[in-house]
Formats: sequence, structure tokens, C-alpha cells
Amino acid sequence: MKRISILGSTGSIGTQALEVIEKLTDKFEIISLSAGSNTDLLNEQIKKFKPKFVCISNENDKDRIIGCNNVLCGNDGLEEICSNRENDIILVAVSGKIGLKPTITAINNGINIALANKETLVMAGDIVMNLAKDKGVNIIPVDSEHCAIHQCIKDISQVEKLIITASGGPFLHKTIDDMKSATVEQALAHPRWNMGRKITVDSATLMNKGLEIIEAHHLFNMPYEKIDVVIHPQSVVHSAIEYVDGSVIAQIGVPSMHIPIQYAICYPERFEGIKSKSFSFSEIARLDFEAPDYKKFPFLNLAYNAGKVGGTATVALNGADEEAVFAFLDGRIKLYDIYKITEKIYSSHNPILNPTLDEIFETDKEIREKTKELISREYQCLSI
Ligand code: NDP
Ligand code: MG
Repeated sequence: MKRISILGSTGSIGTQALEVIEKLTDKFEIISLSAGSNTDLLNEQIKKFKPKFVCISNENDKDRIIGCNNVLCGNDGLEEICSNRENDIILVAVSGKIGLKPTITAINNGINIALANKETLVMAGDIVMNLAKDKGVNIIPVDSEHCAIHQCIKDISQVEKLIITASGGPFLHKTIDDMKSATVEQALAHPRWNMGRKITVDSATLMNKGLEIIEAHHLFNMPYEKIDVVIHPQSVVHSAIEYVDGSVIAQIGVPSMHIPIQYAICYPERFEGIKSKSFSFSEIARLDFEAPDYKKFPFLNLAYNAGKVGGTATVALNGADEEAVFAFLDGRIKLYDIYKITEKIYSSHNPILNPTLDEIFETDKEIREKTKELISREYQCLSI
């Protein structure tokens, strides 16, 4: 039995992970679950999965937790979960920057990581990957593209190129003008994936793909020149690699996050688990591929640029985007402003190369303050 904790058990990835585990009850023992503010759902999860520990963001919600005697709170609580060496693996499925510190703590304690939280690698990929190597810890990607690449690679030294697929999001075949007038509902209407709000907006602007380029660079130690993006609206080919001899290996499957989640938490074993039916090539009418429109989706080039600069450049990109996405979701800015704001903050940042973890957190804080200040100074409240 594998002992597992889930950070972010009430989110899109977290709930799907519990659906996987429900099908594999003889394979997993749940040590801890953690939520932000959704205490009702956490209580249901406690009843069903009986974790030893739970964690919630806000101490004031502690009294609302029923059925678990060990209730931890806030970032300290996440740290405590990740210091518990009873865990064989921790699934990091919180969204945003809060994933980074607990992931580092878990690695320091020799605990393997199933990593959904891409911000961890975007902010501190060098530190995290070097630490994992030193501690002999596996970092298994949950993000479907990286999980696909992980499954395709046998010997990284023979890989010529990574090819990351992107569905293109809800605005793939819309004009720039359509995007400029897009509502929050339109941006959240992703054609293929049902995900948390932040990543869904990033998928509409293709910033998500930008973050994934940086994530792939760190996970597979691949130069940015050898990471390509291709639009593939059906989301059946989850990504591919090209070997030096020209042979291309792709990973294919139905677009369901259950599969990469199950792969990551079960690795290196595979089980039938949540699989509902076999994949059928004949049921797939067609597979389309096209080059991305870099003009309509300028985040892609910004991400390549930040990745190549390295250091805190990617911290600035990530922090500014996250704050701008929150402002968009609040109706304070328009969809295209997310890029304009992020680009402005990013290009005024003077990156620190080889930053320490403290410098990363300081940069992140500064960037977020600057972004919020820019938004309140230059953008009036909009009703969109
Ligand atoms: P969601 O927004 O659906 O879930 C986020 C989770 O984090 C929830 O459990 C939420 O709790 C919890 N949380 C939020 N704020 C805090 C906080 N301050 N302290 C502790 N916990 C907190 O996100 P997703 O599941 O969509 O995404 C999670 C991560 O996985 C992201 O980094 C995303 O980029 C990545 N990812 C997601 C994919 C997907 O298909 N969803 C695909 C690939 C990667 P609560 O709801 O209780 O407030
Ligand atoms: Mg992805």
C-alpha cells in the first residue's frame, strides 16, 4: 500500500485524484488531505477517506471540520503534512505559488512528488530539480503534456526535441477582436478540459502553454530551442518527443485527467483503476495539427523569452500573470489586458540570475504588489 497525502484535495485535480483512489482502495492509504476554504467538501472527503490529518487555509474554519482530530492550518499546516515521513508520495494539486514551499519540504524529507502545480517549477525549477536529484526523489508530472512526455522518454540523451500539444482553448478560431471583448464566462468555457479557474483563463490566453514550456525545460532538462508547441484541438495526442534519428513517439488517450493523475501516483506501476473503456482509433474521426498563432497568443513568446533569461524572469512572468488573471476574474480588467499588464511588469523587472529561495519569494511579492498597483492605477472598474 502506498501512503499518500493530497494538497488541494477539493480542487479539480484533487477531486479527480480521489476518484482514482476510490477505484484503487487496496493500493492507497490516505495520510492527509488539504483544502483551501471548501470545508463542506473537505468534510465529505473526511467521511469517505478517513485521513489522519487535514489542513485548511484559515484557522477560523477549524471548528467547521468534522470527523478528523488532527486539523492543521495555513502554510504551516501544509509544511507539517510535507514533513511527515509516513508519506510515500505527496500529490501537489494546490494552485499558484503556495505549492512551492511544501514541495521543497517534502523533497527535503525524501518524499516522492506527483506534481500538478506547475508554478513550483516555473518559479524555482532549478532549485527544485537539483534538490530532488540530491535527495533521490522522483518528481512525476501530472500535467497531461509532461506526463505524456514522461511516458515516451526512455533515454533523454537520445531525444532531439519535445513537442508539446495545446488544444488552443476557446479562442482558437476567434479573432483578436473577439478576444478583446471576451467575457469571463467565454474565457472559462474551455472546449476540452474542466479545470480550476486560474488555469482555465491561462489556457484561453495560451499562457498555460507558456508555463508548460518552462515546466518541460526543468522536468526534462531540455534547452528551450528544443521545445516546440503545436496546436491540436482534439487533445487526443497529449504530447510527443522526437528522437535524434527522426522517430517520433507520441502518447495518446482520451482527454481525461484521471489517466495522468493515476499514472503519477501509481508510478512505476500501472493498474486498470479508473479506466472506463479501451481507446478506439476508429471512434476518433480526425486529428488536426497546426502551428500556433504567435501574434494572437503573444504569451508564448514571452514565456520562451523569460525561460531563456532564467532566474527570477520566470518568477516575474508568473506572478504578474497570476495577479492579472485574478483581476480579470473579478471583472476589473479585460482578457487582453492580462497580457498587456504582464508584459509591462515583466519587462520592467531586472532579473536575478541563480536566485536563492528567499530572493524568489521576495521577487514574487514585489511583482505582485507592482501588478496590483498598476491595475488599480491604470485600469478602471469594468463591467464585462
Ligand atoms: P483548483 O482551483 O480547482 O484547485 C485548487 C486547490 O487548491 C483547491 O483544493 C483549493 O481549495 C486549494 N487552495 C487554494 N488556495 C489555497 C490556499 N491558500 N491554501 C491551501 N489550499 C488552497 O485548481 P486545479 O485543480 O485546476 O489546479 C491545481 C494545480 O494543478 C494548478 O497549479 C494547475 O496549474 C495544475 N494543473 C491543473 C490541471 C487541471 O486539469 N485542473 C491540469 C494540469 C495542471 P478550496 O477549493 O477548498 O479553496
Ligand atoms: Mg497541461
